[in-house]
Amino acid sequence: MPQPERYEILILGSGEGGKLLAWELARAGRRTAVVERRWIGGSCPNIACLPTKNEIWSAKVAHHVRHGAQFGAMTGPVVIDMPTVRRRKRAMVDAQIAAHLQNYKASGAELIMGSGRFVAPKTLEVCLNDGGTRVLTGEKVFLNIGTHATIPNVPGLEAARPLTHVEALGRRGGSGHLLHQQARTPATRRSFGRTRSVAFRFTDVGTAPVPGV
Ligand SMILES: Cc1cc2nc3c(=O)[nH]c(=O)nc-3n(C[C@H](O)[C@H](O)[C@H](O)COP(=O)(O)OP(=O)(O)OC[C@H]3O[C@@H](n4cnc5c(N)ncnc54)[C@H](O)[C@@H]3O)c2cc1C
Repeated sequence: MPQPERYEILILGSGEGGKLLAWELARAGRRTAVVERRWIGGSCPNIACLPTKNEIWSAKVAHHVRHGAQFGAMTGPVVIDMPTVRRRKRAMVDAQIAAHLQNYKASGAELIMGSGRFVAPKTLEVCLNDGGTRVLTGEKVFLNIGTHATIPNVPGLEAARPLTHVEALGRRGGSGHLLHQQARTPATRRSFGRTRSVAFRFTDVGTAPVPGV
């Protein structure tokens, strides 16, 4: 194993806790590195809280326009342009990523894009996204590796080709209709509390109009 690069603070995962800790401690003068394999800033600004609310806003606007006549606002037929919906969301995500990168630069925390795994106590081997590896060790090591969507072993579910929130947000097709099921069990409630959304499932049920939806 090569001689590890030494940091005072080493953080695996750049989600909510990890990034704020990194920026604060780097600003306080600690030599800090964050290892992130894909989502700069974690899932919230990239594939979870923010992009979903962005698309929900588009849906709300469409709903208001469609029902405008009830409020005395007369319009013609309403057409949803999904590429514009996607572009608006993409622009927001891109702006978030740029703001995060600016925070890394301003604070002095080093962001290392790659997948990390422990190879010794307080020591990570990072398989860099651009190729090659680095070995890093931290006086203090923090884990912020978050959660990810899983497809449970429910008979028939895999054959229905369900979308998790990640694929649903990346859909390029028409507006269609989505059936959405949020699973929450007593065990996940105990583990994650009331405010955490731990499982989202979307199943595409086609593009035919569904009365009342
Ligand atoms: C569709 C959806 C909508 C949501 N909406 C809301 C909301 O409105 N309000 C709310 O409060 N919560 C919401 N949540 C929940 C919220 O997004 C999560 O609770 C929160 O983002 C989790 O943050 P985290 O820092 O724990 O993990 P994450 O943000 O997942 O960060 C972990 C990071 O670690 C990285 N990582 C993991 N392993 C490695 C490794 N080995 N090497 C390198 N990097 C690694 C991952 O790539 C990831 O970027 C939503 C979730 C979903 C799915």
